Amino acid sequence: MSTFLKEEYKTFEAYTPGEQPQDMQYIKLNTNEAPFAHPEAVKRCLDGKIDLLCRYPDPTVKVLREKLAALYGVNKENVFVSNGSDDILNFAVMAFAKKACFADITYGFYPVVCDLHGIEYEKIPLKEDFTICADDYKNKDAMILIANPNAPTGIALGLDDIEKIVSENKDNVVLIDEAYVDFGAKSAKELVKKYKNLMVCMTFSKSRSLAGARVGFAIADEEIIKDLEKIKYSTNPYSINSMSYACAVAVADNNDYYMNNCEKIIKTREKTVTELRKKGFFVLDSKANFVFAKSDKISGEELYLKLKERGVLVRHFSGGRIKDFNRITIGTDEQMDESIKTVNEILKECE
Ligand SMILES: *Cc1c(COP(=O)(O)O)cnc(C)c1O
Repeated sequence: MSTFLKEEYKTFEAYTPGEQPQDMQYIKLNTNEAPFAHPEAVKRCLDGKIDLLCRYPDPTVKVLREKLAALYGVNKENVFVSNGSDDILNFAVMAFAKKACFADITYGFYPVVCDLHGIEYEKIPLKEDFTICADDYKNKDAMILIANPNAPTGIALGLDDIEKIVSENKDNVVLIDEAYVDFGAKSAKELVKKYKNLMVCMTFSKSRSLAGARVGFAIADEEIIKDLEKIKYSTNPYSINSMSYACAVAVADNNDYYMNNCEKIIKTREKTVTELRKKGFFVLDSKANFVFAKSDKISGEELYLKLKERGVLVRHFSGGRIKDFNRITIGTDEQMDESIKTVNEILKECE
């Protein structure tokens, strides 16, 4: 720490992203990326495009916003694009949160962003079965952040419950973070037409094999989008670089390919859940591209460490009532077969 750091950041704890180890090849099931490569048409989208970098990109991201508007059945004025959905979460909290509330077990970035901006927040405990109780969110007098499906549990909240929460907090923005929505949950995007306080956030990182490009987007009422633009233009107007922009446009043009990949992940997920339960794991019902599972034969941390030794990387969160769980990203069928085999070997050694 330098002597120059401002008082308010001295005790501030930054977000810890999942490991991206460079030392060896792991079966990488720890940060919910897509295991699938891009189709030929998309692979070629950057060919000869290096000179794009001579100039600034289009700060309005017009072409991509139009394509997303068409895909999601809204107007381009209802779409905001920025450098990953984390970027958008940050803008949204900056713009709209006087106070905030979110579940006690959810995306770890929410409390960090609130702390960054000195915003007080309340953590609302999930029920015993790790589901959200919509009644707990009534008239909160705070911005509400809900990941749907939730992370790291994978559990989805129904649209009725979402609508209830949105309609019972009309004086505040309710942000539904749909980073994993393409893996089986229902999107709240249609409700944007009915509620001016709803903001839906999505990303190209998980379902569209583009985590490295950093492209996220939000769908909301036009006035909310204008507010987000104001913040973006005041921090980093060119937050989508030309390369990522070109890739995201090509990916949007091939949307069916990626949605078909999601179907594959869903099938593999269901197979993985069955296998893990057969081995005595307690596995939450997931609508995401990961499962959250624990065994009573081995602690969460020990399983995480033993898997890592053997080249399988999963995500473990220490502390509280999720300490014995691991979050396991769904990879290809082959990766999951291999990983389950490794889990079985480790469990055998515990007997
Ligand atoms: C991965 C993730 C994000 C961030 O996605 P990026 O677009 O890569 O920044 C946001 N919310 C949740 C719940 C996530 O899991």
